[in-house]
Amino acid sequence: MEKNTRLVYSSDPELNRKCEKCKEVVSECTCVPEHDPKTYKFIAILRMEKQGRGGKTVTVIDRLPKNEIFLRELTTLLKKKCGAGGTYLMDGKEGVIEIQGDKRELIRTLLKKEGIQSKG
Ligand SMILES: [Zn+2]
Repeated sequence: MEKNTRLVYSSDPELNRKCEKCKEVVSECTCVPEHDPKTYKFIAILRMEKQGRGGKTVTVIDRLPKNEIFLRELTTLLKKKCGAGGTYLMDGKEGVIEIQGDKRELIRTLLKKEGIQSKG
């Protein structure tokens, strides 16, 4: 995000509004805004990862929209349909879902039903 495009001074109250996450005024905020899953174009990337010392396999669904409601609902659906545990993360620029076990085939089918393109 370009910082030098912001206004130095404004009497516009909208720009003095505070960000709900970092409590900075909106013009100073550097939070990554949440994506709107309806307009955000993406192809989810499926990959397998081993977690921890035990080497438990998880199916990672990467490059999802960074939107808490979207991720929470999709994680709930995938956990239910896969009959497995899982979680979502939104620490980086994009959303990530992890489902326990090798569920790539099933997840690919489920994502397709949800209208989500995926690779991997
Ligand atoms: Zn912020």
